[in-house]
Amino acid sequence: MQQQQLKPVDVAIVGGGLVGLTMAKEITARTSLSVLVLERGQPRKTSDFATDMDELDYSLRFRMMQNLSEETSTHRHSARDTAVPIRQYGSFNPGTGVGGAAEHWGAISYRFYPEQFTLGIYLREKYGAARLPENLAAQNWGVTYDELEPYYWRAEQLMGVGGKAGNLAGKKMDGGNVFEGTRSHEYPNPAHKLPYSSMLFEKAVREMGYHPYPVPTATLSRTYTNPDGITRPGCAYCGYCTRYGCMIGAKAQPTNILMPVLQKRKTFTLKTGCSVRRVVHKDGHAEGLTYIDESGAELFQPAGIVIVAGWTLNTVKLLLQSKVGNAYDAATGKGTLGKNLTHQVSQTTRIFFDKPLNAFMGAGGLGIGISDFDGKEGIDAHPGVLRGGNIRVMSGGDTPIASFGAIPPASVPRDWGADWKKAGIEWHDRAAAVSSEAEHLAYRQNCLDLDPTYKEKYGDPLIRLTLDWTPHERAQGTMLTGVHREAAKVMNARVGDSNSRQLERYTTTQYQSTHVNGGAIMGESPETSVLNPYLQHWQVSNLFVAGGSAFPQNGSGNPTLTILAITLRASDALIDRYVKKPAPLV
Ligand SMILES: Cc1cc2nc3c(=O)[nH]c(=O)nc-3n(C[C@H](O)[C@H](O)[C@H](O)COP(=O)(O)OP(=O)(O)OC[C@H]3O[C@@H](n4cnc5c(N)ncnc54)[C@H](O)[C@@H]3O)c2cc1C
Repeated sequence: MQQQQLKPVDVAIVGGGLVGLTMAKEITARTSLSVLVLERGQPRKTSDFATDMDELDYSLRFRMMQNLSEETSTHRHSARDTAVPIRQYGSFNPGTGVGGAAEHWGAISYRFYPEQFTLGIYLREKYGAARLPENLAAQNWGVTYDELEPYYWRAEQLMGVGGKAGNLAGKKMDGGNVFEGTRSHEYPNPAHKLPYSSMLFEKAVREMGYHPYPVPTATLSRTYTNPDGITRPGCAYCGYCTRYGCMIGAKAQPTNILMPVLQKRKTFTLKTGCSVRRVVHKDGHAEGLTYIDESGAELFQPAGIVIVAGWTLNTVKLLLQSKVGNAYDAATGKGTLGKNLTHQVSQTTRIFFDKPLNAFMGAGGLGIGISDFDGKEGIDAHPGVLRGGNIRVMSGGDTPIASFGAIPPASVPRDWGADWKKAGIEWHDRAAAVSSEAEHLAYRQNCLDLDPTYKEKYGDPLIRLTLDWTPHERAQGTMLTGVHREAAKVMNARVGDSNSRQLERYTTTQYQSTHVNGGAIMGESPETSVLNPYLQHWQVSNLFVAGGSAFPQNGSGNPTLTILAITLRASDALIDRYVKKPAPLV
């Protein structure tokens, strides 16, 4: 195909999601550089969500997600297996369009625990190398929690996160998460009003001697103006939240916190419908990007600095097909690009009450959690568990179709028939869940590469996930669902199924979370990581790669606040140091 060459820009960014637009906002605020963002999906704005909360379309037909008939990934459990394409939405839901997945996220906004950032050393020191799983690939991030703390605070202010501090400047505060790392400030906003099921959970876990706290969320608990002067209203608890854009802008989304700022900047350009195909590079220097625009034309965009922010699977795919860096080979352990793929260990136990819960009111991040079995806490009595996870009761908003059919086990015929429909109506507002997300350690065998067989609509290979659970994740699941069931009994709830069977083999068919991370990881040396601690490519210093793809392993809390914190730190380094002296930052 004939390639048209465009006028050069100073900075070209792949992906108009949370990370790409945050980078653009920072760079255009503090430099005069021209910034172009290329987004493969369609434009979006808050008012698109104002009139049209169609549950079938958004939640069950995945209106805002990547079109799997055009681009998907393949999965296999091990290098011995043949991978097959993921043809239906299951374990994760990649986003597309302006704002990316952060338009339809749940907004739960945890910080990771301090020792997560030095996990490579921490686990060896705590347990001794001989007691760790043979294939463990835990690594240090090259940045500590203390170095990241000011950026966590900036990220919380940008989005207006609400919650209750549990460790303020070293002082433990009852009512917050007392196990969290030290925070320099209380949350920008107070916690939300508590939904009924979370109140029952809070009372029960207090009786059990645990330490409940409101789950931190970037859905506003009151009207708030952020440091960029963006004012958003408090949440109306409408329940149409995760998998939807917020109709009033209470949930932090790129279209309500970033685009209003960027649209006023003359040095900012956003092009939608533009799929980036290659990072063009020569002799350790990125020269620009090739992309296909909406008309199908292939274009070359020269750029002084390239930033890739396409979300984990798209980012690693683009780097692999651009042949930037050394592809990872799990058999030899050589190479870095594609290694340390992680997801998160999600567990749910259904619980049932003899009274209505008014669960139709809610928000994606609304709930109560405990971290008494999270990170390094409370795990020593559980053989085989090296790192734990949070436990929480959330009220995401039970919408009529998606939440119908949560029925206590063995009570009626399951999934069909008149009796099932009757029971569905009877139990609809009396069902809740205790759920957990646990850390996912990195292992040498879990990785990303390009599929040798299957291709996407442009003829490039699909990204291939080699991923399976190990005994460690099963031990985490047993520990956490054990606590779920104990708490449910103290809540006087009827206890239903836990989904621990999901941890027998990794399944692509059941939703877990869209917290798939790793593959282009940051770290302390070019031998063990793709990026330095400022998200700058070790081998191509004018290439920055931002997003969860940089995580060496996954923490227990939802990842986006940490993604934002490392992005803000990288943007500071780029603006304050790289732009002044273009060179490796480490
Ligand atoms: C249903 C759901 C609920 C979630 N809930 C939470 C939560 O409660 N808490 C939490 O912490 N996280 C949550 N997440 C995860 C969160 O959405 C992501 O961590 C976050 O969006 C990552 O931001 P990003 O910019 O890296 O990626 P994205 O937001 O996915 O943006 C990437 C953008 O890049 C574009 N792109 C990709 N490749 C190309 C290319 N080659 N050319 C041009 N454009 C490209 C994509 O179209 C997309 O718009 C949730 C995700 C989903 C789907």
